[in-house]
Amino acid sequence: MIVSTILSAIVQAAPAPQAFDPVEATNAYLATISSVARARSDAYFEGGYWLILWNALVSVGVAWGLLQAGVVSRLSERATAWTKGRKAGRAFIFACLYLALTGVVTLPWSIYVGWLREHQYGMSNQTLPAWLGEWLIGTAIGTILGGLALLGLLTLYRKLTRSWWAWGTLASGFFLLVGLLLGPVFIEPLFNRYTPMPASPLRAQILQMAQANGVPTSNVLVVDASRQTKRISANVAGVGPTVRVALNDNLLNRTSPPEVRAVMGHELGHYVLGHTASLLIGFTLIAGLFLLVLDHATPWLVGRYGSRWHISGRDDPAMLVPATIVASLLAVLLTPVTNSLIRFHETQADYFGINTSRAPDGWARVALRLGEYRKLEPSRLEEIVFFDHPSGRTRILMSMQWKAHHLGEPDLQ
Ligand SMILES: [Zn+2]
Repeated sequence: MIVSTILSAIVQAAPAPQAFDPVEATNAYLATISSVARARSDAYFEGGYWLILWNALVSVGVAWGLLQAGVVSRLSERATAWTKGRKAGRAFIFACLYLALTGVVTLPWSIYVGWLREHQYGMSNQTLPAWLGEWLIGTAIGTILGGLALLGLLTLYRKLTRSWWAWGTLASGFFLLVGLLLGPVFIEPLFNRYTPMPASPLRAQILQMAQANGVPTSNVLVVDASRQTKRISANVAGVGPTVRVALNDNLLNRTSPPEVRAVMGHELGHYVLGHTASLLIGFTLIAGLFLLVLDHATPWLVGRYGSRWHISGRDDPAMLVPATIVASLLAVLLTPVTNSLIRFHETQADYFGINTSRAPDGWARVALRLGEYRKLEPSRLEEIVFFDHPSGRTRILMSMQWKAHHLGEPDLQ
């Protein structure tokens, strides 16, 4: 009797069940996408699963073919002759020659993946000549910077027989840091123009969100990404005085202010939560794992299959080529690890973005737009293995759950 009285009192005191059901709201959002559009986006994204494997097979195939045909040993001899045997110069020249050669040999594959396939799915705005121009700039920069990084690693490999991989891990972290700091300042302007966003209420709201969260900027830039792609995106890059908040013109022109605010909240989240630093540490550790595996697997591969490769030993920079075979295969195996590392950070930024923008419906609509090229409803395992961002369903459900806990508040969008 007493128990039933207490129970009925609890039932009466409990709030009435809310009419807003996050799962139903999520399903309603997802139902707005036609089955044709969904099939297209699923096909595009699932094709990307196979690209991970094909990319690895192409790089392994090219490296193996060039080794077997004696091209690698001839490149190594050429590098020795040009540098009169000076070891550092030889390693740098060999690395540059190899990177440039493989860039050219794999160009047809790169055109398929980077240009043709993007056009097949309506994602690209670029003509082939424009794409090729950017490929040339990217390959030239990649060859020089990659050559310098590989010179560092090859020198450590040659001089420090036992501990090279540990020093190489530190060096990899340094290269990643330099790339993160200098990329937005020196590399990205080679491909796109950054212009100040004209004054508007939306710009004021973006700056308000930034400054309220300690992001030291008074400027918002717009990048002309529509030159290349139809995708929407934004980013916050730089450190201290070089911080810049940028959004792309597709985001600005194709979406509503609540969607822009939700995206900018997400990007500010990456900055405020220190993701550059934690991803740098994460990827440096992954680089260390690569080097440790390379240290064991590359000499084994050369000993087992390399009788025709004419690699003279540790001093020969041609060791780089069997190492790329090992690294390509390891990268495929580590796909779920790298994707999950990034996805973990993306989920944090998602929550930060919804909290800061207070635009759960804006974020849900953004998730649907990103569903143009990212499968909206994968299985759980599929999301863990292949997704470096949460899927559309996960993001919309996250937004709707947040909204369910803030119902009745005045400024939700
Ligand atoms: Zn993000």
